[in-house]
Amino acid sequence: MVIRLKVTTRSRLEFQDITSQVQEAVSSSGIGDGVCYVFVPHTTAGIIVNEHADPSVAMDISEQLSRVVPQHSDYRHLEGNAPAHIKASLVGNSQMLLIEGGKLLLGTWQGLFLCEFDGPRQRTVLVKVMADRR
Ligand code: ZN
Repeated sequence: MVIRLKVTTRSRLEFQDITSQVQEAVSSSGIGDGVCYVFVPHTTAGIIVNEHADPSVAMDISEQLSRVVPQHSDYRHLEGNAPAHIKASLVGNSQMLLIEGGKLLLGTWQGLFLCEFDGPRQRTVLVKVMADRR
């Protein structure tokens, strides 16, 4: 079974902490030990694991990505959102996490972020929870 999370972003660039929603999906699966695959089925959004204790870290990552991939350049893509496609390619669109005792095994400072590069939009995050073989 695939669990579908809805995430509403509110600005063009936004890193939204989805750790608790993914943890709820893991908890609702009833699986104690295994792995959790999180996939973003979009071409202008991505997903990262990084520090969520200090929100300025996500802002720094977003701002520096915008330096690497400027909003305006000689892009060929006519839709006007080429930077969003490029940033989504750089950060990637999935994460594989470990589960132990029904909990995501993340480091003390780690959280999971949906990276919005072309918002605001309604996004979907797909979560697949797989149990260890007995
Ligand atoms: Zn496009």
